[in-house]
Amino acid sequence: MRRFIKTIVFFLLVFGSISCIKDQKNETRPYLIILSMDGFRWDYPDSIPTPKLDAIAAGGVKAVSLRPAFPSKTFPNHYTMATGLYPDHHGIVLNSFYDPASGREYAIRDREAVEDGYFYGGEPIWVTAEKQGIKSASYFWVGSEAEIGGLRPSIWKRYEHDFPYTQRMDSVIAWLQLPPEQRPHLILWYMDEPDYSGHYYGPFSEGTNNMIMYQDSLLGIYMEKINALPIAEEINLIFTSDHGMQASDPERTAYLEDYIKDSWVKNLQGYNPNYNILAEDGCMDSLYHALTAGDHFTVWKAGEVPERLHYGTHPRITDLIVCADSAWRLKWKRDDRKGPYGDHGYDNRNTDMHAIFYATGPAFKKGHVHPTFNNVDLYPLMAYILGLEPAEVDGKLENVVDMLED
Ligand code: AMP
Ligand code: ZN
Ligand code: ZN
Repeated sequence: MRRFIKTIVFFLLVFGSISCIKDQKNETRPYLIILSMDGFRWDYPDSIPTPKLDAIAAGGVKAVSLRPAFPSKTFPNHYTMATGLYPDHHGIVLNSFYDPASGREYAIRDREAVEDGYFYGGEPIWVTAEKQGIKSASYFWVGSEAEIGGLRPSIWKRYEHDFPYTQRMDSVIAWLQLPPEQRPHLILWYMDEPDYSGHYYGPFSEGTNNMIMYQDSLLGIYMEKINALPIAEEINLIFTSDHGMQASDPERTAYLEDYIKDSWVKNLQGYNPNYNILAEDGCMDSLYHALTAGDHFTVWKAGEVPERLHYGTHPRITDLIVCADSAWRLKWKRDDRKGPYGDHGYDNRNTDMHAIFYATGPAFKKGHVHPTFNNVDLYPLMAYILGLEPAEVDGKLENVVDMLED
């Protein structure tokens, strides 16, 4: 009996001290907020006044640029930033794609698909956090509207394109004022600009420049609100983007319809400059030979894409991958639209596709300039800052650890 009581006491002590360590860890665990401003090209701040971002760089970290995963489109890249995996490994292989396993299509405007966890592979950082008992919140980050591995962020919002940025920001600030047991330690939020302006007016145009200056002024308000919080000194902030933007010239447009017959195509996904094509039975050779004869774009068979692009083995990347050459546009068919005047999706070797990375807070060095790195490395960085056990991913902490305080 005495032995039994001793054993019980031993277990109580051990588990008591473990939960005590856990609580203690949570009390000292920092906060991390990542904001993505869609299509914020890496070199916009070199010629457009962005005093607030400049101040963040001076007091923290700025990377020369952040290299997106291929294809440099919105959904593959936001989900790569969240999971640390290349699109080939997480399955959001383009903004729209065909899934041969289910016969279903995924598209960014298809609510049912976007909110269906079936499509999302890997483990997004908010799932890693929630699994380890850390609360997370998201305002419109790609993937956060779906249940993935049985989990969602503790707080999440259904995408509303026109929902004002100031109100998104106020919610983020309000979440940081929740009682400690409800307060998220990880917050991800999103603005769809300057991507829209970049497409509509082109990069480095008056319209896009004005939008960037407006967003920079919003960041000034955001920083003031963050700095007024009692927990301000525990908050780490990342400001980044999914890809850059390249000027498009409507006169330099190639058309797939000049090379291929509709009857050769079973399924075609994508829009300028990226397409994934599933060949009709027996038409693969005709398609491939016709497309390889084309000008101003490149075609690869799945499995033959250059290794540096990490693309082409996922079953959703169907038979042929087509991408326009930089400075060219590629449409399937002719239409009446003149624009867009800016675009992205191109090979990530084209630095116009690169995005910004700025960070500040107790985890980061001050005044540090980091070389260009890949956005798969963001997941290990975020997991490390938050003290989370990371999932196995493509990104590597060693590529980013140098930007952190010892
Ligand atoms: P694109 O420039 O074609 O790669 O896509 C950019 C668009 O993605 C933006 O204008 C948004 O409307 C859209 N978008 C971004 N995040 C979400 C989301 N979570 N749900 C639905 N649409 C989104
Ligand atoms: Zn985007
Ligand atoms: Zn875009």
